[in-house]
Amino acid sequence: MTNQDVMQLTDEYILGTYKRFPVALERGENATLTDFDGKSYIDFASGIGVCSLGCGNGSWLAAITDQAKKLPHVSNLFYTEPAALAAKTLVERTGMKGVFFSNSGAEANEGAIKLARKYSFDKYGAGRSDIVTLNHSFHGRTITTLAATGQDVFHHYFFPFTEGFLYADPNDTASVKSVCSCGTVCAVMMELIQGEGGVLPLDQEFVQEVAAFCKSRDILLLIDEVQTGVGRTGTLFCFQQYGIEPDAVTFAKGIAAGLPFGGVLANESCAATLSAGTHATTFGGNPICAAGANAVLAELTPEFLSAVAEKGAYIRKTVEGWKLPVVTSVRGLGLMIGIGVSCSHREAVGKLVESGLLALTAGADTIRLMPPLTITKEEIDAGLAVLKQILSLY
Ligand SMILES: *Cc1c(COP(=O)(O)O)cnc(C)c1O
Repeated sequence: MTNQDVMQLTDEYILGTYKRFPVALERGENATLTDFDGKSYIDFASGIGVCSLGCGNGSWLAAITDQAKKLPHVSNLFYTEPAALAAKTLVERTGMKGVFFSNSGAEANEGAIKLARKYSFDKYGAGRSDIVTLNHSFHGRTITTLAATGQDVFHHYFFPFTEGFLYADPNDTASVKSVCSCGTVCAVMMELIQGEGGVLPLDQEFVQEVAAFCKSRDILLLIDEVQTGVGRTGTLFCFQQYGIEPDAVTFAKGIAAGLPFGGVLANESCAATLSAGTHATTFGGNPICAAGANAVLAELTPEFLSAVAEKGAYIRKTVEGWKLPVVTSVRGLGLMIGIGVSCSHREAVGKLVESGLLALTAGADTIRLMPPLTITKEEIDAGLAVLKQILSLY
């Protein structure tokens, strides 16, 4: 097949929910991908932060193929080894108490929302079910996680949305406190770097103040690390750089390096809340995906994570050093990078793709870079050369 063949089939038979770039990717090696016409691309997107180990990582491939041969799936009515091992590693490396496995970020957040509401119901009875989220946040595409998302553009068409979400301003503790003052709030949920909203890091001080306030009111603190988690920001989870102890942390995207997997980590405070029969999933904790997650977690050693932090700092410093007029700011942590631009971010990313660099947009004016965590210096420099060439056009 050619790019054109794949595009034609797709456009004819798959519902048109996505505005795609005119490229059909066929294969890849680490952060270098090739399309059906043989053209190659440097990957500064890794899916959307999913291919944490790039393409063709040997230990990941061995782990998932071995598991597929042995036992692809049983239900959650039985015990499996890969999920048990993934849970142990996640718990030990975060200081949390336990985990519920899901298949995606939205489902992970649904789990955290259910956990918070039941925690409060068990302790205080009905009437304390509201969850505060932040403006510019993104929490998923289900009816409930759309309601949780603090951006009005996501609140059209699909009425009625799930009730019980209130919105506060990021980096404004007074706003969070004021929204919580109604007395009906059971949880505050936030991303530490708002990803889809524009790669907007929250201030440490704000996050710590909210954490202390939540603790004082027995309001659960839910941290959505679907995008920031799993090494993306240079630590296993981003909250580990914020000096807080969340009650629940959600993750997905990069955890199984391309397979659908995610989960909610729960702290001591609420680990017993989702008791038998109160929450479930058919696929969550699937042995193949869990085996993939174990391969990812084994790769994310302290040395690997500091290399992620260094690579990210190198990219940010290089882009800043160009001093291009179109660049208004460079933000982010580790390999989650936002470049604010004064041109159309969509148009710029279109030109990047055309010139052989896969990148993402975020918010209204940001080019977002999320390369595989395994990207090499050579691949980074090749990608940066394209980025400089295109941004210099403006
Ligand atoms: C991507 C994302 C989600 C949704 O994850 P899905 O796997 O697409 O359901 C939720 N929260 C954040 C912060 C995300 O970046």
